[in-house]
Amino acid sequence: MADPKGFLTTPREEWPRRPVAERVRDWNEVYVPGALLPIVGAQAGRCMDCGVPFCHEACPLGNLIPEWNDLVSREDWRAAAERLHATNNFPEFTGRLCPAPCEAGCVLAINQPAVTIKNVECAIADRAWEEGFAPPVPPDRLSGRTVAVVGSGPTGLAAAQQLTRAGHTVAVYERDDRIGGLMRYGIPEFKMEKRHLERRVEQMRAEGTRFRTSTTVGRDVDAAELRTRYDAVVIATGATAWRELPVPGRELCGVHQAMEYLPLANRVCEGDLDSSPLSAAGRRVVIVGGGDTGADCLGTAVREGAASVTQLDIYRRPGTERDEDAEPWPTYPRLYRLSAAHEEARDLRTAPVAEADARLFAASTLRFTGDGEGRVRALCLVEVDSARRPVQGTERTLPADLVLLALGFSGPDPGDGLVARLGLAMEPRGTIARGPDFATNVPGVFAAGDAARGQSLIVWAIAEGRAVAAAVDRFLIDAPSRLPAPIGPYDRPMTA
Ligand SMILES: Cc1cc2nc3c(=O)[nH]c(=O)nc-3n(C[C@H](O)[C@H](O)[C@H](O)COP(=O)(O)OP(=O)(O)OC[C@H]3O[C@@H](n4cnc5c(N)ncnc54)[C@H](O)[C@@H]3O)c2cc1C
Ligand code: SF4
Repeated sequence: MADPKGFLTTPREEWPRRPVAERVRDWNEVYVPGALLPIVGAQAGRCMDCGVPFCHEACPLGNLIPEWNDLVSREDWRAAAERLHATNNFPEFTGRLCPAPCEAGCVLAINQPAVTIKNVECAIADRAWEEGFAPPVPPDRLSGRTVAVVGSGPTGLAAAQQLTRAGHTVAVYERDDRIGGLMRYGIPEFKMEKRHLERRVEQMRAEGTRFRTSTTVGRDVDAAELRTRYDAVVIATGATAWRELPVPGRELCGVHQAMEYLPLANRVCEGDLDSSPLSAAGRRVVIVGGGDTGADCLGTAVREGAASVTQLDIYRRPGTERDEDAEPWPTYPRLYRLSAAHEEARDLRTAPVAEADARLFAASTLRFTGDGEGRVRALCLVEVDSARRPVQGTERTLPADLVLLALGFSGPDPGDGLVARLGLAMEPRGTIARGPDFATNVPGVFAAGDAARGQSLIVWAIAEGRAVAAAVDRFLIDAPSRLPAPIGPYDRPMTA
């Protein structure tokens, strides 16, 4: 611990965001460039180097947080980068996108603001790239074994990098035209600029991983044939089958799924389109769904110049303090959080309702109504109680000419025929079934990430990718693997 009194003398300070008025005029990341480095050393010095670091337990990757906090506060960036990459293939992704369950489990958070762990992680990762501490790590020798990884989201990428570095010859198959999964066409540029993704893909190419884009396994490549061509197959196809909202008027023009809307905006940022065919410009937007995907729609609609934006959340508004009985430390509590998009909505007063940050809580959609020519014009909602029963007399109508459904995802997309062609067994909830070693019912075929775990987070996806790589390596070499396995397939976030 470089500064034994750091937690007493230094208040928590986060990487500042750019002013709202400035950042909504572009798609760049919301943070002030260069403003993290000057503050991060003192922030890392707030770490108490606890005997039992719960932050480390709360992070699915088992990141060695107190170790790299100490190294950063001593300005030993090279060693910090080495310790960080020992457990996390892509810390620049988690450093920007992770909801940081580690911070909820920080011992300091029992009675003070937690250490800014996620910011420290991001600073180390960015510094590592700047200083050349993240070079390609090609294997010393090849095993002669081959692996196909289907899907190039964080799970597939982490699995592919681990297996390539272990000496296996790995090809990643991706149905999209670019690599990255939901980090490419789901998550907007203002949360993570795609250059971070490109840099990692280049690193992986230099290490020997091969990428086959615009190739849908099950349609362009026969899934069963893939199994015979490779010694092992990893299914990391994500959970992209979206949930529906079966209410009257759903068929109206102008009601779309979030994942129909967000990819088009991302394609504008990629330079593929001049403007999005579903652009929110000048439209009254209502987002149904209170989660991260909904917030991403909110930030995107604001940048596209929506006339108004409102976000509906079926849950009641959470408090700002942890409920010590229901969600005690060190679990991750449901709290009222102001994301960058909500801050923008608040400052710009985007919602035609009294609520300050555009969110209407405890709101359930009853129906959509149209203009008589098939286009949506309004959404009718009702307030619900904690058991989601409608509260009488609370019906209200919001004007809407673009409605975005962000209701979550149920499991892998069945449309490509991959699951059926391979004969994979499924769980009743729609995810791919697997045993304790990540193996499916088909010998040599493994499943990982959202496709098997269900809709989750990037930190879990990377942990899944690392763990499935260890299982595949064991299968290929028929001996204990030297690759780390941070989680098992049945591990879940800490709960009370
Ligand atoms: C809009 C949105 C925002 C999110 N924001 C965050 C966030 O801020 N922080 C966070 O931690 N998590 C976030 N998440 C969740 C996170 O993105 C996912 O948990 C994570 O990407 C899952 O990784 P994965 O690799 O398992 O699957 P995915 O990222 O979904 O990748 C699966 C890939 O497989 C490909 N594929 C599917 N079928 C085939 C096939 N048959 N052949 C070839 N390729 C195929 C898909 O095209 C896709 O590229 C967000 C999710 C969404 C939808
Ligand atoms: S990956 Fe997420 S949980 Fe782990 S240290 Fe980073 S921010 Fe915390």
